[in-house]
Amino acid sequence: MSTTVTEALGTDAERAARWAELQQTARELATRFEERSQKAYDSGEFVAENIRDLVEAGITAVNVPRELGGLEATLEENTRLLRIIAGGCGSTAFTLAIHAVLTGSMRSDLGVAVRERMFGAVRDGAFVVGPFTDEGSGGNWVRPSTVARRTPEGFVLDGLKHFATGFDAATHLVVTAGLDDAHLEPPFNLAAFFVEKPRQGVDVVSRWSGFALPMTGSHSLKLDSLPVDAEDSVFPDGLTPLFVMARQQWGHYCFAAVFLGLAERAYELAVERTRGRSTTAVADLARLPGIQFAVARMRSSLATMDALLIEYATRHVDPGEDLPAFVADTCIPKYHITNEAEHVVATAFEVIGGSGIRDGSRIGQIWRDVKAGPLLPFTNDMAREFIGKATLGISPVETPRWV
Ligand SMILES: Cc1cc2nc3c(=O)[nH]c(=O)nc-3n(C[C@H](O)[C@H](O)[C@H](O)COP(=O)(O)OP(=O)(O)OC[C@H]3O[C@@H](n4cnc5c(N)ncnc54)[C@H](O)[C@@H]3O)c2cc1C
Repeated sequence: MSTTVTEALGTDAERAARWAELQQTARELATRFEERSQKAYDSGEFVAENIRDLVEAGITAVNVPRELGGLEATLEENTRLLRIIAGGCGSTAFTLAIHAVLTGSMRSDLGVAVRERMFGAVRDGAFVVGPFTDEGSGGNWVRPSTVARRTPEGFVLDGLKHFATGFDAATHLVVTAGLDDAHLEPPFNLAAFFVEKPRQGVDVVSRWSGFALPMTGSHSLKLDSLPVDAEDSVFPDGLTPLFVMARQQWGHYCFAAVFLGLAERAYELAVERTRGRSTTAVADLARLPGIQFAVARMRSSLATMDALLIEYATRHVDPGEDLPAFVADTCIPKYHITNEAEHVVATAFEVIGGSGIRDGSRIGQIWRDVKAGPLLPFTNDMAREFIGKATLGISPVETPRWV
């Protein structure tokens, strides 16, 4: 039998054992997070305690490369953990997803210094968040309104960031801005910086309170002459949009996993609530055709989403030569799953019935959380544009866009 021995994690068998242990821990934590969310969801209290538990369990460190002592989790393994955690708490899973996307996607192609700084910190318990969306960009964050001006030491950043998910738990940020160099036209002026959470130059100007995912602490931040060093710049000048596109699979599949995990939990709740339940009019609700058909619809839809996500997270991870076609590919599971998950959750709500509307019901929380899926990048319109154009042989970066 051949075994691969690596410096830090030992044999393949040891890695498999560690992976099994992490999944089991994630299941136990999901149960704990679900209990906590019963108390904290309505007040929108940030999931700080849950993030601490994930750090302590080593779940936030799964993307550390093997040569730095880590598990080097695959993209598919990341989606599995996110699905499990989403079953317990959507806000925690989404907050973890941002960290997972950043640490997973940035494992390759970083300069040696930034890579060692990032993964040394993550191995030791760092939590990384990514305020990309600007006041002036919305979801088009490759065209930031936050500006990076050059200084002798590096840059200073000024702008207003929205939706800085997990900011309260952050130890580090990957923050984007547009370089004000005259020769770099948007989006090629996009730059990303990996920095320790600054003590000065970043202020929370509006605290998050959301209808969906209310416990993510997705505050708005003002960057006010925030200094960053030249070596904090993550990618070579002018190339950041290409690096970002080549990593879109991480965002799309990890976000899809969160919303699939929510739909999977909604389905379980609907089945649990129905089995053995009777009323004065119906001896066994499970014997009603409407209930059986709804359960069948949910189950087959979940099986399709499961297969789709596994297929993409294992077989569509390499950008290859045709970058726009690859990005279009990665849109497919994100687009399908975030929209289909809403249908499953709506069906589960119907099966559970009026008690789902009661204050504090878990299905009510999931119904709210699942609404965020299609709004996250790529939004439905952007995904449809990329998929449609790739299919019809039109470049998505061609201008004008629609004629
Ligand atoms: C709970 C939550 C947490 C988030 N956390 C983060 C985070 O940590 N970091 C971060 O950077 N962002 C985060 N976001 C923001 C997210 O990434 C999106 O940028 C944001 O949801 C886009 O919303 P918007 O209102 O700015 O929409 P807009 O981008 O203004 O879009 C509004 C509408 O216009 C359409 N539209 C806009 N531009 C185009 C276009 N070019 N082509 C076609 N249609 C277009 C959209 O499809 C949509 O229908 C978060 C969002 C949510 C809801």
